[in-house]
Amino acid sequence: MTVLIIGAGQAAMQTIQSLRQGGYAGGITLVGDEGFLPYQRPPLSKAYLSGKMERDRLFFKPQSFFDDNNVALHLDARAEEIDVTGGTVICNGLGALAFDTLVLATGSRPRPLPLPNRALSGIFDLRGMGDIDAIQPHFQAGKSLAIIGGGYIGLEAAAVAAQSGLSVNVFEAAPRLLARVAEPEISDFFHRLHSDNGVQFHLESQIAGFTGAQNGGITGIEMASGDIIAADLAIVGIGILPNIELAEAAGLAIDNGILVDECGRTSAENIYAAGDCTQHPNDLLGRRMRLESVPNAIEQGKAVASAILGNPAPYHQVPWFWSDQYDIKLQIAGVPDKIDNKVLRGDGNGHSFAWFYFTGDRLTGVTAVNRPAEFMAGRQLIEKSLRDGLAVSSDNLRDETIKPKQWLT
Ligand code: FAD
Repeated sequence: MTVLIIGAGQAAMQTIQSLRQGGYAGGITLVGDEGFLPYQRPPLSKAYLSGKMERDRLFFKPQSFFDDNNVALHLDARAEEIDVTGGTVICNGLGALAFDTLVLATGSRPRPLPLPNRALSGIFDLRGMGDIDAIQPHFQAGKSLAIIGGGYIGLEAAAVAAQSGLSVNVFEAAPRLLARVAEPEISDFFHRLHSDNGVQFHLESQIAGFTGAQNGGITGIEMASGDIIAADLAIVGIGILPNIELAEAAGLAIDNGILVDECGRTSAENIYAAGDCTQHPNDLLGRRMRLESVPNAIEQGKAVASAILGNPAPYHQVPWFWSDQYDIKLQIAGVPDKIDNKVLRGDGNGHSFAWFYFTGDRLTGVTAVNRPAEFMAGRQLIEKSLRDGLAVSSDNLRDETIKPKQWLT
């Protein structure tokens, strides 16, 4: 028996570990196209970009782990085509690799920004280790950095750059930061936080293109108004697209991600998918979703492995996510599709507070700023509220004399 895994990222790593921990003794083959052992991405826009984290610490496991666990690695190969009925995947340079079970863990890629002069040197994506290695030599005090996109990745890079002495301009098309993923009070908080650190924002900005020098390097951002804002380098962080093309071409069902069930099964027998590239059902939330987060990749990797092992353990969790910027640890649980009531605990203007979000009488979200206890308890409360209909008291959430762990008793 061979399990063939395409994509050597977070979900693939978890699938391998869970398969071996669960007693799977057959062959495992891992195909990745980045040329590296599987590594974690979150530090890329945080400690690795700032130079505080060594490259070696990015890797989940050393080569010896894969040798000891009998995992065949092809880390410089790209899967090009799946033959579903024949049970093979054609990979460049490797020919056809046979599988009994296939796991697609192809992740996502940066959304392209097709603007004039995008190909100038000094304009970077921020997705992989190679991107950071290319950006870092330019991260020097006194340089001016333009960040296109005011989402988490852009803001994390802005924080590192501001702390490294660069002057930072963030360009965001929406009227507020984090508009797609956070409530206005959280957008306002991060706007203030970054402004206090010298970052300049250009909201509702329309960018016409990049300007460049004779040597092919970026010199600035050209606005639709004709204004030019000088920049020595730029980072584009305007979201991601799931890598679904391989699955789509093989005839697998797709809808903003590879469609999977709660165990990661795709529409084709013996083919599973996990991580950023999937769209999965969540019975707690009563809807399907595609998530772009480490916890999701881990839980789906576990679910896929358990299904392959014949002990299906469906994945239904309250989604959660985190971000680190300056001295702020932001933790978010839940993705409410509609918010009817908001409750604040602590001082929303300070650096330690938590917002709780209700949909009807159900607690559906918590956003915690330097409040890990509130986040942990809040996440459990959301689950109890959604699953069991637990009534959550707004007064208890607000009252700082009541400790978060008491909410659960
Ligand atoms: P990935 O880890 O992206 O792995 C997919 C791999 O598949 C890639 O190596 C890709 O090159 C490869 N691949 C794709 N197609 C093929 C092919 N045809 N053949 C071979 N290989 C292929 N999440 C959080 O929860 N918290 C954070 O703080 C956070 N910070 C982040 C910071 C950055 C800079 C980035 C980029 C992401 C961050 N994320 C964070 C998101 C998180 O890292 C992803 O959700 C997670 O890595 C998804 O795992 P995955 O296995 O689905 O995909």
